[in-house]
Amino acid sequence: MVGNGPGHILEQTRIETTTPDETFQKVFRFFQSYAATGRIQAIGVGSFGPLDLNPDSQTFGFITSTPKPGWRNTDVAGRLRQGLGIKVIIDTDVNAAALGEFRWGASQGFDPSLYVTVGTGIGGGYIKDGQPLTGLLNPEMGHIYVPHDLKADPFPGNCPFHGDCFEGLANGPAIEKRFNLRGETIPDDDPFWDIEAGYIAAALTNYILVLSPKKIVLGGGIMQRKFLLPLIREKVLDNLNGYVQSPTLLDNIEHYIVPPGLGDRSGVLGALALAQRME
Ligand code: ZN
Repeated sequence: MVGNGPGHILEQTRIETTTPDETFQKVFRFFQSYAATGRIQAIGVGSFGPLDLNPDSQTFGFITSTPKPGWRNTDVAGRLRQGLGIKVIIDTDVNAAALGEFRWGASQGFDPSLYVTVGTGIGGGYIKDGQPLTGLLNPEMGHIYVPHDLKADPFPGNCPFHGDCFEGLANGPAIEKRFNLRGETIPDDDPFWDIEAGYIAAALTNYILVLSPKKIVLGGGIMQRKFLLPLIREKVLDNLNGYVQSPTLLDNIEHYIVPPGLGDRSGVLGALALAQRME
């Protein structure tokens, strides 16, 4: 996307992620005319990871140990900088989305706030004092443990690192594996959705207790099932059981756990917000 914000977008496109070479060629072609005429000041990237974001590291801006074929040890920031001759600022896809929602979307004015995506992957970006939280590395909110009742849900989980962590139990591929069906074909009234909502609610409960966000934005492909959100809110309230005494939670949870204000553009607009931090 080329622009200054949701109200001022000059051009946007969608390029499939194939091999790094092919993907970068298409990305260069899209930005080339803007870059050559000096109309772009900076490029913001929200990338899948894991990413090396340590500015002192030799491999800063690289995708590191991804299982995605061909992308291991890819210098995303460097290739863009060299290919287009423009400053690049890179962060994780979830941090970018969190920033996009904070700048222009549903968590505007709420600091700290949390963005969580539940889809093919699961992850979260936490904004505190206007910045995505980083520490030793980036938070990996998809890989926490949530209660797993093996009687109700005997699926062992599909995370290659942890088995039945939150992502291993609740991401899109885990659901498809349980049913051996494409996700879209599983009917809304299947009893599994109650279990899925339970995993998401358990994770949100933990995030609330640890991070105390003032707003939670819940996005990702699985949240396209609109009936899930009210169910998740109800389960979060059950889990907390009145312990967190905030009217925001107790009386207004429908305004506390909310869908993205930017629809499916939280990530790309967040990348724009990242780019503007360089100006
Ligand atoms: Zn995991």
